[in-house]
Amino acid sequence: MPKLSDRVNTFTDSVIRRMTRISDEYGAINLSQGFPDFDPPKAILDALAKTAYEGPHQYSITFGAENFREALARKQGKAIGREINPETEIVVTCGGTEAMMSAMMTICNPGDKVMVFSPFYENYGADAILSGAEPIYIPLVPPTYEFDINLVEEGFKAGAKAIIVCNPSNPCGKVFTREELTAIGELAVKYDGFVVTDEVYEHMVYAPNEHVCMASLPGMYEHTITCNSLSKTYSITGWRLGYLIGPEEVIEGAKKVHDFLTVGAAAPLQEAAVVGLNFPESYYEDLLALYTKKREHFLNGLDEIGLKHNVPQGTYFVMIDIQEFLDLPQFAGYTDLEFCEWMIKNIGVAAVPGSSFFREDVNNLIRLHFAREEKTIDEALSRLKKMKELLK
Ligand code: GLN
Repeated sequence: MPKLSDRVNTFTDSVIRRMTRISDEYGAINLSQGFPDFDPPKAILDALAKTAYEGPHQYSITFGAENFREALARKQGKAIGREINPETEIVVTCGGTEAMMSAMMTICNPGDKVMVFSPFYENYGADAILSGAEPIYIPLVPPTYEFDINLVEEGFKAGAKAIIVCNPSNPCGKVFTREELTAIGELAVKYDGFVVTDEVYEHMVYAPNEHVCMASLPGMYEHTITCNSLSKTYSITGWRLGYLIGPEEVIEGAKKVHDFLTVGAAAPLQEAAVVGLNFPESYYEDLLALYTKKREHFLNGLDEIGLKHNVPQGTYFVMIDIQEFLDLPQFAGYTDLEFCEWMIKNIGVAAVPGSSFFREDVNNLIRLHFAREEKTIDEALSRLKKMKELLK
């Protein structure tokens, strides 16, 4: 067998997505990979049905169908607080995943340093490897997930080209405050670096926290590449619709990368999703109300059981501390991954081991999500209660 590239030997498959496969194999309740188990809005489904017969079914413009980009420019222009040119400042991608990969490929030369907060969404590790960038990790310290801004300055001083900011943060649910974003932004300007944001959970930010777009801060548009997606906002994770927004020069580069990576996102799905992008404000308010309720329900359930957890300020993820289990003789020597596998097989609930998000040696946290119908959450909680009973 001829040899494969060195590149593919430097990272594993995604543990998040692997957990879904194991969960499916054992028929567990899948609270690992984050995606909803409920339908997208009916208006989007109706538009999809109509598109099935009326098209388009051929390629859209490589960097996104015109009506899709125009609708995006209107919606995200409001969030960013400026007019976005749909011709020159947007690239539509196959999911937020391709948006981030294209951003990294657009700005990084092999050997360039990029700062990544740890814990981080595991894709960023592979994005760095595939784009040749060398990550510098900035700890977000549990349980509050605060960070030391001096480390960000040191990173820029060490030559970092960019910093990736996932806001709200997957997996820890941190919502960066305006002050934190301003401080990061000021350093990016001072050292002439980029901020690459991942804002896919922008509409899941729980009061009193507020979502602030990095690109909306004074002077930051020119330094920010905003990566985003429709997956979570419209419950269409399988449609793989994402996008990049940024200054013209950056987007010009990203358009080329995207063109040769994937040519384009699915044309019929872009057409159907335009309806969603044009939804009134009330849609986003209702979505937030729905997730606020789910969050409260899930966190209350965890409290009743007595499982230790963080309180996410945003996203639909919760980190649970499993140290009390790892201290039991039957789990002696277990890694968090082994514990998650045990959970799937014996408890019937799938989680993601925290070690797949942390650079640091963290083995006592697992991530669960609550983007599930209430009855599914209730069933998961009753199974977790049984797990807790092991401690008695
Ligand atoms: N963002 C989701 C998660 O962290 C999954 C995204 C994906 O698998 N592409 O679980």
